[in-house]
Amino acid sequence: MTIEKVDLKNLSPSELETFLNRFGKERYRSVQILRWLYKKGAHSFEEMTNLSKNFRQELSQASNMSNLQPLLVEQSRDGTNKFLFQLEDGNRIESVLIPDKKRLTLCISTQVGCAMGCQFCLTGKMGLIRNLAVAEIINQILAVRETLNERTPLTNIVLMGMGEPLANYENVLKAIQLMTHPEAFKFSSRRVTLSTVGLIPEMEQLAKEKFRFRLALSLNASDDETRNHLMPVNRYHPLEKVLEICRNLPLQPRARITFEYVLLEGENDSPEDAKRLLKLLKGIPSKINLIPLNEAPEIPFKRPPEEKIRHFQEILMKGGLPAIVRASKGSDISAACGQLQGKASRF
Ligand code: SAH
Ligand code: SF4
Repeated sequence: MTIEKVDLKNLSPSELETFLNRFGKERYRSVQILRWLYKKGAHSFEEMTNLSKNFRQELSQASNMSNLQPLLVEQSRDGTNKFLFQLEDGNRIESVLIPDKKRLTLCISTQVGCAMGCQFCLTGKMGLIRNLAVAEIINQILAVRETLNERTPLTNIVLMGMGEPLANYENVLKAIQLMTHPEAFKFSSRRVTLSTVGLIPEMEQLAKEKFRFRLALSLNASDDETRNHLMPVNRYHPLEKVLEICRNLPLQPRARITFEYVLLEGENDSPEDAKRLLKLLKGIPSKINLIPLNEAPEIPFKRPPEEKIRHFQEILMKGGLPAIVRASKGSDISAACGQLQGKASRF
C-alpha cells in the first residue's frame, strides 16, 4: 500500500508546525522550512542544506512539494502579462501581472471557473469546475516570482482572478496566512486584497475572525432589482444585509473597504445610481473603483461613453466618496477584469 504524501504547500503555517511534530523536531524547523519554501522558493528537499540529511530523507518519505510552471505567458501592449497554468488534472487557470508606476501587482485565481454567474463576466460563463488547493493558489505567486528580476519584486497581491474567493474560504484564508507570514512571503496585510461578491455566512465569519487583509466588495448596482439581474447571487445575499456586515467589520486603523462597480451602459450608470450609492455607503469607510465594462461578444452589455463615466465619478466625489476610474489593463490579451477563462487569447 502506498501512503499518499502530504504536499507541504497545502499547509498553513500552524498546520506545518503540527505536521512536523510527528518527527519530534524542534519548533524552529518549521520556520526553516517556511523560509525554504516561500522566501527562497526551493523546489526540492536537497536544497534545504541547513536540515540534516536524515531529516530531509524522513521528510521526503512523508511529504513533497508541488510546483506550477506557466504553459504560456502573453504580453499586453500596456506591459501587463498573463500567465496560463495547467493544473495536475488538466484544468487551466490564469494569473495576471500588472506593473503600475511603483507597484507590481499580481492578480491570482482562487477557483477553476466560478459559480456566481454574474452576467457581465466571462469566468462566470464557465460555471464552477472546482476550488483551488492552497498549494495551487500559492504556486501562482511562486511561479510568477521566478520570472522576475530581484530588483523589481512583487509589491501587491490581489485575489481578483478566476473564482469567488469566499466560496473557497478555508483554502483562501490559509493561502493568505502564508502570504502575510513573516517567515513566508511577508506581504504587508495592506498589500493583499481579496475581492468578493459578499457571501453572507463567510462575511459574518470574517467579521468574527481577526482577518488581516484588505477587502474589496463587488457592488455593481445601487438597488436589489438591478443587482439581482446582474448578479444572481444577490437573490440570496442581498445588498442591505451585505452592507450591514461591512458597516460592522473590524477594519484595521485607517483602512477602507473598496467597492467595485462595473459600469454598464443603461443598466447602472445613471446619476440616480450614483446618488443612491452615496446613500448606501454612508457610515462605511469606503472608496469606489469604477470599472468601465470590458466588453466581449458573449456579454450582452456595453461600456458607457467616457462622458457618462466622468459624470458618475464626479457625483460620487462631490458627495465625499473617493472614486477612481480603474484603467483596464491587458484587454488586448483578455487579461482584464472579467476576461479570464483559463485559455490563451490568440490560439
Ligand atoms: N469573484 C470576485 C473576484 C473576481 S472578479 C468578485 O467578483 O469580486 C474581479 C472583479 O472584476 C469584480 O469586481 C467584477 O465585478 C469585475 N468584473 C467582472 N467582469 C467584468 C467585466 N467584463 N468588465 C469589467 N469588470 C468585470
Ligand atoms: Fe465570479 Fe467574480 Fe466573475 Fe462574478 S465577477 S462570475 S463572482 S469571478
